[in-house]
Amino acid sequence: MNYQRPKGTADILPGQSELWQYVEDTARQIFDRYRYREIRTPIFESADVFSRTSGETSDVVSKEMYVFEDKGGRNMALRPEGTAGVVRAYNENKLYGPEFAKPYKVYYMGPMFRYERPQSGRQRQFHQIGVEAFGSNSPLLDAETIALARDLLTGFGAKNLKFVINSLGDPESRKAFHQALVNYLTPFKDELSDDSKIRLEKNPLRILDSKDRHDQEIVKNAPSILDYLTDDATEHFNQTKAALTALGIDYVVDSTMVRGLDYYNHTIFEVMSNDKVFGGGYTTILAGGRYNGLAEELGGPETPGVGFAMGVERLMLLLQDRVVENELTAYIVAIDSAAQTAALRLATKLREQGATVDMDFMNRKAKAQFKSANKANAKLVITIGEKELTNQTAAVKNMSTSEQVDVPFADLDTKFADVAAKLLGE
Ligand code: ATP
Ligand code: MG
Repeated sequence: MNYQRPKGTADILPGQSELWQYVEDTARQIFDRYRYREIRTPIFESADVFSRTSGETSDVVSKEMYVFEDKGGRNMALRPEGTAGVVRAYNENKLYGPEFAKPYKVYYMGPMFRYERPQSGRQRQFHQIGVEAFGSNSPLLDAETIALARDLLTGFGAKNLKFVINSLGDPESRKAFHQALVNYLTPFKDELSDDSKIRLEKNPLRILDSKDRHDQEIVKNAPSILDYLTDDATEHFNQTKAALTALGIDYVVDSTMVRGLDYYNHTIFEVMSNDKVFGGGYTTILAGGRYNGLAEELGGPETPGVGFAMGVERLMLLLQDRVVENELTAYIVAIDSAAQTAALRLATKLREQGATVDMDFMNRKAKAQFKSANKANAKLVITIGEKELTNQTAAVKNMSTSEQVDVPFADLDTKFADVAAKLLGE
């Protein structure tokens, strides 16, 4: 019987996992600069957590969510995105309490699940690295969040990024725009896609995000939300834009961008790349925005929030040519079977001192062991044979200069770093 991984999932193998670790480590370093700390929430939650926040009519909830009934009859879902679970945890753990610094800043990284048609950069199990900041309504925080997104992506060496922003305003702005949009779209009702016919009743804003070609044509001449912002919302957006300019972030405003999840308001943004790996057009690598009503929606106190999520698989497409070296300090060659145990003992001693060490476990001849050492790019090869066992020394060779010295086991056991540094000229 041959088993295969589920459609839309991937095995991340050694050789690739190094790049994942590099991405995760780099992200942690950059988040630390901005004083974000890690939060880890469950991979599944009550399905309600997602449907109440992303919205019943969003694609994520209506089509893509993995829902299941557990043995206790509860309606659960694998998380399709990170924000809702983090907000649930924020409320449940009372992270709004006076003992916590504000804004309360957290980041997460891990798998998300969406039942989608798999293609390049689109999987059913994919990974996001994201941030959330709670408790401040300052437009400067919107700008800082976008600056963090920039630092993160440029930290990975991403170039030619496009920053697209828009404002969805406050509830009052949304209400005014909602009416204007319905007035505009109603005459096109019969032409809209079936999904959008339903959205027109339930959530007309979603139609702006439609993937249907004809819907997109109709939407082109729709009113702009920016014309319906209240004075407060306009001010918030203007201050955000001014701060972005001060930070040297080149942005474009796209008033038709609404994002796929219902919980956003005020500033929303996407960072795109038109790298050749994406085959021509622009692809969104990272997206986010402000979501001031979300904590309340899940039963918590009124709390402003802003965040983003980056798609790690999409980032990986950009980085795919990158080679992450893993260094081998020493390979220990045992000339004959009598030296094997001494080789293992020495390997263990060197590892205790922090060195990366390998040796043969396949009973290979000395010549084949030297080949393995070369293939693994070992900086040093340490040879132990009959003579070395008698003298209680080992022959240590610098593989790039071929210089070789005999070193007592006692020295290797206790001050290997000195021995290696001297021989490698470091
Ligand atoms: P799209 O329009 O491409 O479906 P989205 O609006 O559904 O994206 P978000 O919910 O904003 O995506 O998620 C943020 C980021 O997560 C996306 O910009 C993308 O990089 C990544 N992402 C989303 N869905 C997937 C997926 N199925 N596979 C891989 N990455 C994904
Ligand atoms: Mg999507």
